[in-house]
Amino acid sequence: MKADTLGVECASDGDGDGLEIAVDVLGDWLSKMELTDENFLRAAPAHHVVACGGRRLKGKARTDYSHSRAVKEIGKFISHSWQASAGSKYWTLLIFYNGAAAVVLGTLVATAAMIFYKFDFLPGWMRESPDRPEPRYLGPWCLTLGTLTLLLVLLLRRPQDQVFFDRLCINQYDAREKTLGIMSLGACLKHSKKLMILWDETLCQRLWCVFELAAFLKTHENGDLLIQPFDLTHFLCWRFLVNTLVYGGGLVVPYSKNLNENVATVLMFVLGTCAQGWLMATILRRFSQGVETMQKQLASFTVAGAQCYCCFVNHRTPDGDIPCDRQVLQKCIRHWFGSVEEFEKVVQTRVRDAFNKHLGRHFCPLPWLFAGEVTILWQQMDRAASRLHEEDTRGALGRLILGFSFLFLSNPLGFGAVTLFLRYKPCDGLVLKLLVMALCMSLVFGIHWLFEACHDYAGELWGSVIFAGALLLPSIILWRASAHG
Ligand SMILES: [Zn+2]
Repeated sequence: MKADTLGVECASDGDGDGLEIAVDVLGDWLSKMELTDENFLRAAPAHHVVACGGRRLKGKARTDYSHSRAVKEIGKFISHSWQASAGSKYWTLLIFYNGAAAVVLGTLVATAAMIFYKFDFLPGWMRESPDRPEPRYLGPWCLTLGTLTLLLVLLLRRPQDQVFFDRLCINQYDAREKTLGIMSLGACLKHSKKLMILWDETLCQRLWCVFELAAFLKTHENGDLLIQPFDLTHFLCWRFLVNTLVYGGGLVVPYSKNLNENVATVLMFVLGTCAQGWLMATILRRFSQGVETMQKQLASFTVAGAQCYCCFVNHRTPDGDIPCDRQVLQKCIRHWFGSVEEFEKVVQTRVRDAFNKHLGRHFCPLPWLFAGEVTILWQQMDRAASRLHEEDTRGALGRLILGFSFLFLSNPLGFGAVTLFLRYKPCDGLVLKLLVMALCMSLVFGIHWLFEACHDYAGELWGSVIFAGALLLPSIILWRASAHG
């Protein structure tokens, strides 16, 4: 049966009976999870969703639909709330699709810069050095070129993954095609390999978003969910920005072991560490509050309490009256789950469990934690390059080990310590932020003191090895202890 004979005209002619029929037809068809036409199983390459600086995430345009095409299977069905910020969606998708490639290519370019610097293909400048009387010849190339490469790959790489994104895959400018596209949504979910949820705390209040998740879980036994919280995106972006400024500054501002002689360096690191502490306290707290809110929302979820755009505009648009999504979805829900109450029970248990499981045991999964801090490795690669230039291979190796130790050991150690502290928070608000800043400061200066002491004791190479050995166990313990669930 082709459903395009009913519903569409009924939905737009505005009389009460017509709308009721529209609700019946839409609800019945949606519950079958069948396509109204093969042409409505559509997807677009992910790069079209983030194209033009994320313009398509902000507002609709007539050409949007032309970027999708009929497919046999959808890679990822992107579920999101239109109320959420377009900028957060843009950066979340960029990081998800291009983040790993950006970090790998950035590191390859930084490695090439290190070698080029050693053979004098890149210039440097003489700088006072804390570890010996005479200045060193240092360049900014690993950090600068690595960061530039990372940003270029992040912004310009064109991921080809075939995704379902409503604005591109449902024709917004043709009422008939739009209705048929919406009626095929159940089938699109059924034929999607993964469901990607762009998550913020408003999402679980949106009836359509909860419905999409329930439909996906119904058709996928071991529902392959990807939950991408916006807070994680904000955390990674801000952390990367602060790190780049601090480490970039570290290459330019002279550094000395004697703190009295070097107010600018100390000030820069103090401000950078405070900014990191502030960021972690603010974003981690917001995230855990968001998760708590979501759990409460899902635990007490009711279809009647969930939000729908149609009810918000009182079922009137400039193009005419529209049927109520709530009624359409209720019809579909009764078909699948027996009753609305049964569906609410599924949301309150299975959907909530799925969220808890897929949000992960850590706010920031380990690979993202490493990716967000990669500039510290590139900064140490610049120092290794200056040792290579002086034919000091042992020193260069020491600096590389130090860079990897900062990235892979002190980074999760610091993050784990702050997460643990926030879990057993003794207070809230400004005092909490100040305490986290003080904790970060103690950690940064403690770790700094440790590697200085190791270097003084055993030199650059063996000092770095001892430093890494000393951090290994505390990092593992603190990281594991900070996991939740
Ligand atoms: Zn409504």
